[in-house]
Amino acid sequence: MVEAATLREALERWFGFPSFRPSQEAIVRDVLDGRDVFALLPTGGGKSLCYQLPAVLTDGLTVVVSPLIALMKDQVDALDTAGIPATSLNSSLEYSDLRRRLDGLERGAYRLLYVAPERLTLPGFVDDLERWGIARVVVDEAHCISEWGHDFRPEYRRIAPLRDRFPDVPFCAFTATATARVRDDVVAQLGLRRPAVHVASFDRPNLTYRVMHGTRGIDELVRWLRTRPDDDAGIVYAGSRANTEKLADALSAAGIPAVAYHAGLDPALRSKRQEAFIRDDVRVVCATIAFGMGIDKSNVRFVVHYDVPRSLEGYYQETGRAGRDGLPAECAWFFAYGDVARAERFVDEKPESERPAARAQLERIVRYAYSNGCRRRELLGYFGEEYPLERCGACDNCLQPRASFDATVDAQKLLSC
Ligand code: ADP
Ligand code: MG
Repeated sequence: MVEAATLREALERWFGFPSFRPSQEAIVRDVLDGRDVFALLPTGGGKSLCYQLPAVLTDGLTVVVSPLIALMKDQVDALDTAGIPATSLNSSLEYSDLRRRLDGLERGAYRLLYVAPERLTLPGFVDDLERWGIARVVVDEAHCISEWGHDFRPEYRRIAPLRDRFPDVPFCAFTATATARVRDDVVAQLGLRRPAVHVASFDRPNLTYRVMHGTRGIDELVRWLRTRPDDDAGIVYAGSRANTEKLADALSAAGIPAVAYHAGLDPALRSKRQEAFIRDDVRVVCATIAFGMGIDKSNVRFVVHYDVPRSLEGYYQETGRAGRDGLPAECAWFFAYGDVARAERFVDEKPESERPAARAQLERIVRYAYSNGCRRRELLGYFGEEYPLERCGACDNCLQPRASFDATVDAQKLLSC
């Protein structure tokens, strides 16, 4: 049993943080105890620290399976800065660089090793791991193992066989996205044994949620942005590449520095615009959902949805990019009737097999738009979490209750047109 004071000292010493975020300390303890762990924490909740701190406090190598080279690089760079020896192995390395890293691993020079799941089945790799002596296997973005999640990666199925090869090594799974079904699937697929399960609250108390009915239009958006403090930065999500361009032009013309961001842009231009936003050189990014994954800008003060989000889950993740510093931030969805018909057309353009699910998700998010109840309660309820209060006091419906009307009938009418 590690003393709480010792853990906090280590936290301060290695990461420079004065205190743990909710759930972090309990997870760190279970990891240190050598238990299998399943942890569900929202984006920005601080999952990395839950395995990085144990990695510096114990012997042996912590092997982290991660889905993207870019994510691995960010993490290894951050650990470098903190003075924690870490490295990654991936297929894009020059031979000399690879050699250097492998030599370091042979010498036991690293505390953490990041790998893509593909590496686990390369000939000889498991023998290497055996020689290097692994303390635990961490599966980051663990929902990728489940077909029921939104980001299934078949390569993640290569993780489970490691279990047979290293029966005594604990496995820890981390994710921000998991419905009950995905949660059970992750536990089963990884063969977790009596895991310590941690489900942090998904509540983001500093975010205010609003659905602005009938306010759709660039003029309204400009007017709304002008009510915000001048140096507030934010993201405006739009449903199409064309709309991101149109919005960025209109905002710039109105004197609000804005750029467009979508997957159709040249990668160099994309990273330039992303950098500009992170450095506060540009106030607003008008983006498709291609923007956001893995972006750690803590002072995003607002997230606007200018078109209908694809799903309630997507909406939660996108709004979740606001206010990661814990200070108040606004999530405003500009909603008008016509948007639903347009969103329906997008659904109709999908391959037939995807249509029923896409339609169900659209119906769900439209029902949310028309709901009179507490938004926070509804969002959290969607993730299976019961908000302890009837009213949060920080969403449009709690702040300015509208006259009630039969939203269900209205929404159904819209969806059948
Ligand atoms: P997640 O993987 O859960 O989305 P990260 O591990 O990337 O989150 O952490 C998000 C941000 O929170 C990072 O900038 C990280 O440095 C910061 N952070 C993590 N734990 C703490 C803490 N205890 N105190 C302050 N900041 C923290
Ligand atoms: Mg993470």
